[in-house]
Amino acid sequence: MHNDLKSHLSNIIKESITKVSVIHGGDISEAFKIETPDNCYFLKLNKALNALKMFQAETYGLQLIGKTNTIKTPEVLACDSFQNSAFLLMEFIESKAASTEDLENLGKQLAHLHHCTSTYFGLDQNNFIGSLPQSNKTNISWVKFYTTERLLVQLELAKQKGLLSNNEFPTAQKIEEALEPLFADVKPALLHGDLWSGNYLISSDGTPYLIDPAVYYGHNEVDIAMTKLFGGFGNSFYDAYHANLKKDEHTSYRIDIYQLYYLLVHLNLFGSSYYGSVVSILKKYF
Ligand code: ADP
Repeated sequence: MHNDLKSHLSNIIKESITKVSVIHGGDISEAFKIETPDNCYFLKLNKALNALKMFQAETYGLQLIGKTNTIKTPEVLACDSFQNSAFLLMEFIESKAASTEDLENLGKQLAHLHHCTSTYFGLDQNNFIGSLPQSNKTNISWVKFYTTERLLVQLELAKQKGLLSNNEFPTAQKIEEALEPLFADVKPALLHGDLWSGNYLISSDGTPYLIDPAVYYGHNEVDIAMTKLFGGFGNSFYDAYHANLKKDEHTSYRIDIYQLYYLLVHLNLFGSSYYGSVVSILKKYF
């Protein structure tokens, strides 16, 4: 790390930095552990044009979840640009592998987060899903929000990129007709929005933390669908979650439909290896 940045960060935290180590695992930004004699911090750096916007949206999401006092998020200390890079500085969470009990707590606390509600679906600002923009234009109808703000945006992008053809592309009307009976009685819940297994941490004392959110108010099962996309979080997580927020006879269909959004995002970000899964859900429901 450049010495200028190091002294800039040192001024922000008002401590001298004794060690900087690279952290691997992120796929968007460079990440570092910053050590001082008394504390540890986590830093993300990114030179992309929209990086500051991404970090601002991440900060907003972390703080929105944190404020609910249902599940912890790392405290953000600074979100700014320095020279030609955007940076996000936050509390470092010393983490460990999740035990059955930790996953049970995560499930319970996620359910508490999902009880935080709103009068609309969406959010008062747009954010990002991975590195793609995520529009959150508010709507009082979940069917309309999920069709226009989620599925159609990614379907259009896939078409533009030549990843899906016209005959694989359902109309808004067709999507809404299919979703209407499955989406009855959905209430807005504050979502993490990108809840795969890389986006939670269990601290060394067993406290669950959510990181890297793509928050908005949506159906709580959206987060559950994402947890199940690449393997699942284990029975203790789901038992604790569903003891609080129940499934119904349409849940498994909705999980498919909510996974479709994330699969489309993966198709648009990472290419055609996600094509088969996308098309099979499109054919099944639309
Ligand atoms: P990206 O946005 O580039 O995908 P991530 O937010 O996933 O980056 O972070 C990269 C790595 O750093 C991950 O392995 C994650 O577990 C770890 N990490 C993220 N936030 C913190 C934190 N506050 N404290 C400690 N480690 C963290």
